[in-house]
Amino acid sequence: MRKGEVLDMMARDYRGKVPDLPADRPDLLPRTADRVTHPRSVVVVGAGLAGLRTAAELRSQGFDGELTVVGAERLPPYDRPPLSKELFTRTAPVWLAEDGLGDLHELADTVLLGRRAVALEQADDGGRVHLDAGDGPDELRADAVVLALGAVASIPTAWAGALTLHTADDAARLRAALIPGTRLVVVGAGWIGAEVAGLAAARGCEVTVVEMAPVPLERQLGPVVGARTADWYAEAGVDLRCSTRVVSVRPGEVDVAATAGSSTLRAEVVLAATGVRPATGWLDGVVPLGPRGALPVDATGRVTDGPGWLRAVGDCADMTVPGLGVVPGGHWDGALNHPALLVADLLGRAAPPVPAPYVFSTQFGRELAAVGAVPAAADLLLREDGRGWTALHVARGPDGVRLLGGATVDRPRDVSPLRKLLAGGARPALDPALAADPAVPLRRATLPG
Ligand SMILES: Cc1cc2nc3c(=O)[nH]c(=O)nc-3n(C[C@H](O)[C@H](O)[C@H](O)COP(=O)(O)OP(=O)(O)OC[C@H]3O[C@@H](n4cnc5c(N)ncnc54)[C@H](O)[C@@H]3O)c2cc1C
Repeated sequence: MRKGEVLDMMARDYRGKVPDLPADRPDLLPRTADRVTHPRSVVVVGAGLAGLRTAAELRSQGFDGELTVVGAERLPPYDRPPLSKELFTRTAPVWLAEDGLGDLHELADTVLLGRRAVALEQADDGGRVHLDAGDGPDELRADAVVLALGAVASIPTAWAGALTLHTADDAARLRAALIPGTRLVVVGAGWIGAEVAGLAAARGCEVTVVEMAPVPLERQLGPVVGARTADWYAEAGVDLRCSTRVVSVRPGEVDVAATAGSSTLRAEVVLAATGVRPATGWLDGVVPLGPRGALPVDATGRVTDGPGWLRAVGDCADMTVPGLGVVPGGHWDGALNHPALLVADLLGRAAPPVPAPYVFSTQFGRELAAVGAVPAAADLLLREDGRGWTALHVARGPDGVRLLGGATVDRPRDVSPLRKLLAGGARPALDPALAADPAVPLRRATLPG
């Protein structure tokens, strides 16, 4: 029986009870409707931002049971955004404990760093996590298991010698390689590619960015807003090549193909800024994973079709939110704020409203923020003053003009109103004339209903 068939069968059997496991797939975790309302023990797997915030929320929301946190990295929790934004100016990690986000050793009874979870299974009345070899226990049992696994940089295996930027070690390697005069090819004009390209050019590197899409940040901000960022590259002395595909990467050379023809770029350093994939490879066939390998969860972190004792949060999870649809993991703000929702539900409390999706970035000396949804078919309203601009993504219909999301560039005053207006999947009605006036506070451009 194939995995899909097993899951379908289990879905049909699902009536709020634990179905029998299929005899030929004992590794699949059973589905259950049981809510773990009063767990006495919790294991958090992953000691990044989401794992640390889960531990901190558990304690601040009153959990006084046994808490264990396991993290594959040897370092205590550190912040990832400075790895790119402050690549050359901060050589040591920014510890999340020093940023006031909690000290893992004070929060948890047991902290196992440098240990990796390798298997997950049903225990009598909870979950069991098996760990790789190392100091301490080989397995952990708990009433509830929270997966905060994050993601890993995604890079084709054939790209010999290409670097990625995801961990503190990656940042140290990249920093050491990017001395002034170095030829750098960045593959991908997404958030991280754009940030590193601007900083490396300012450091005196010769930078080329290769992007498959016709404009930078197209997937993240849409084609029109993405196109507005393209000029920043040339202004910074970066050679941006859009609609260009990398064919192969060899030491010192990158072969690319575009409509105009193929060419070879020479580079001492190649940075693959080609996205991430959830660190869930070890769970394939154990719990249902979504198309990009993420754990599908509801707005409180419960794993869709997973057992009641299992939750997931942060970059490893794709959250389905009423009114918003699927909010893919991959954003700092989600890893920061979603643990509060997960923990509230786990402890049987009312969960706070789901915050609007929110991403920030610093590129080419500009501060960007993206809030809410960016549907491909949305219309745009532009609020532009001499210093910056905000593009509002709106839907026009019988119920008027509805705000879906917004991207700001050097307009910090619009960020907080956007986050408030779009919280909980709301789609507030707008007066389009007022909304397009940059002098009118965004909140005053909303209409009742
Ligand atoms: C260079 C860089 C810049 C970024 N800049 C921005 C930005 O400007 N704005 C923004 O919104 N977001 C940004 N992000 C994304 C943001 O940092 C992440 O969304 C956030 O860190 C996610 O936190 P997390 O805890 O879910 O995952 P992670 O931080 O990846 O932590 C997960 C941890 O789990 C561990 N782990 C994985 N599998 C296992 C296992 N089997 N057993 C034990 N441990 C395991 C991992 O080793 C890791 O330490 C950036 C990311 C990077 C890499």
